[in-house]
Amino acid sequence: MSEKRKIPMDTLLVHGQSSFEERTGAVSVPIYQSATFRHPGLHESTGYDYSRLRNPTRDELENTIALLEGGRRGFAFSSGMAAVSAALSLFGRGDHLIVSEDLYGGTYRLFEEFGRKSGLEFSYVDTGDRSEVENSLRENSRAFFIETPTNPLMKITDLKYLSSLAKDRNMLLIVDNTFLTPYLQRPLALGADMVVHSGTKYLGGHNDTLAGLLVIRGEDLAEPMELVQKTTGAVLSPFDSWLILRGMKTLGVRLARQEENALRIARWLEGDSRVDRVFYPGLPGHDGYELNRSQADGAGAMISFSVKDRAMVERILRKVEIILFAESLGGVESLITYPAVQTHAAIPEEIRNRLGVTDTLLRLSVGIEAAEDLIRDLDRAMG
Ligand SMILES: *Cc1c(COP(=O)(O)O)cnc(C)c1O
Repeated sequence: MSEKRKIPMDTLLVHGQSSFEERTGAVSVPIYQSATFRHPGLHESTGYDYSRLRNPTRDELENTIALLEGGRRGFAFSSGMAAVSAALSLFGRGDHLIVSEDLYGGTYRLFEEFGRKSGLEFSYVDTGDRSEVENSLRENSRAFFIETPTNPLMKITDLKYLSSLAKDRNMLLIVDNTFLTPYLQRPLALGADMVVHSGTKYLGGHNDTLAGLLVIRGEDLAEPMELVQKTTGAVLSPFDSWLILRGMKTLGVRLARQEENALRIARWLEGDSRVDRVFYPGLPGHDGYELNRSQADGAGAMISFSVKDRAMVERILRKVEIILFAESLGGVESLITYPAVQTHAAIPEEIRNRLGVTDTLLRLSVGIEAAEDLIRDLDRAMG
């Protein structure tokens, strides 16, 4: 594994952990559609006993994501939320978590609906603002849970600063790396302890599979995560593991193209008089532009923008033709969403408005279509 880490990311993505199956030479890792595995004898095992515990196809995915993120171990779950839930299960009554205030709505719902019931405490702050972060620290603070860029306002958090603060305080830094993926950002190398993903998004990349992934940096978290995964049982199926593995092979080319498209669209939006604000960390005018450049290899392909006229929102959602009005992100198809009523509906209105997730804000996941088609589509739909 350590030697593999020296291989450039583009090659690693295509070949994954094992490149081909040793026994048969199959270049596509076989789908081991078996729930259980025969034991050779008493107290003997092939290494595989029962697929909730371990499955060879899922193993390949878990080893590959660990390799890409530069972590010790990877774990695959049936959805991104199952991975976030697994991370949350490390904490218990009385523990306090400091969380990005501008956050995936489902994660917020999990923390508020289930975390609080288990006696956890949460503070939602702008994790890009050092004084806010430092003021939110408590005796019982156990972890930071952050997104960078955030969803949907694309705010950037300084990963090195937060990881050193976490280390000083004996806290964990957990990063949801869904938006940039290990292709563009590797938080573990900057000191984070754990990375979670909705594999449904860029890693799968085709809007066809739900998946969640979790990677840990140190061996100390291996046992607790293994226990959670096998005990709660929200594991990724062999077929879905294979779909995510197949998706990841093209992550590099997809994301490079998506990012190129995103920059063109962001620039076009910025220059359009119907648009109020554009939130894209790849634009030099973005607050987090320099910081993102210093810690990531790109700005990704998610753009949020607000329009001046509230009535335009409905028009755009109804009239876009190439861009699909659908939840989710990261796939080859461009999607547009309306965070205030979709992904962020779980967040109370006054909080949403304070954050800037207003009723004129739209979020665009830029796909691999021709950029000029996407711009024409938006231009026409904005009417
Ligand atoms: C989609 C998403 C999730 C949840 O993942 P699912 O696969 O939908 O369960 C978590 N975090 C972020 C940033 C997401 O975009």
